[in-house]
Amino acid sequence: MVILYKVHSGLYVNMTNKCPCACTFCLRQTRDEMEGSGSLWLEREPTVEEVKAEFEKFDMSEFSEVVFCGFGEPTERLYDLLEVAEYVKEKYNDIPIRINTNGLADLIWEKDTTPLLEGKINTVSISLNTPNKQRFYELTRNKFGIDAFDAMLAYAKNAKKYVDKVVLTTVATTLTEDEERECAKICDDLGVTYRIRPWED
Ligand code: SF4
Repeated sequence: MVILYKVHSGLYVNMTNKCPCACTFCLRQTRDEMEGSGSLWLEREPTVEEVKAEFEKFDMSEFSEVVFCGFGEPTERLYDLLEVAEYVKEKYNDIPIRINTNGLADLIWEKDTTPLLEGKINTVSISLNTPNKQRFYELTRNKFGIDAFDAMLAYAKNAKKYVDKVVLTTVATTLTEDEERECAKICDDLGVTYRIRPWED
């Protein structure tokens, strides 16, 4: 079972395959691993203790950050994630920690979860995908419905109060220049960073 895997200088954590979305572009539809990680489909969700123990197998001095990502939405296991993050920070010299997320944690947990991130998470990277609410719903096919877009933006805004950096991302070549300008404006208004990330197939 692949729980941790390397991507460039980051050590990525794969704790769950659950996700409230079924994105049209989800890489899980066309591959089962990332960067030679081995299959990221989990036979079962690893326990917190198993995840913590996995870090012993790596030379942590090789990594500049730990990233909760994997083949699923990491905040589906928010409390377990935070327990691991706290452990990793304490054990590995306050190493920076990022969550790559669809930004729907507050809908999953039915409350504002952003205060829980304080002191444990440095960066929250959220897939914005599009500046358009309807289009967001069509692309993510999330189980919460069309208002998920607004909830995701509120999450980004609130998270900014508790972590060092919030980044909203879109993928290069998937939007028009006008749409990218709209995304940049949304990010400006929220006081967060906009990043256009490279396309991966
Ligand atoms: S949010 Fe991420 S893991 Fe979930 S379906 Fe979309 S791309 Fe896949």
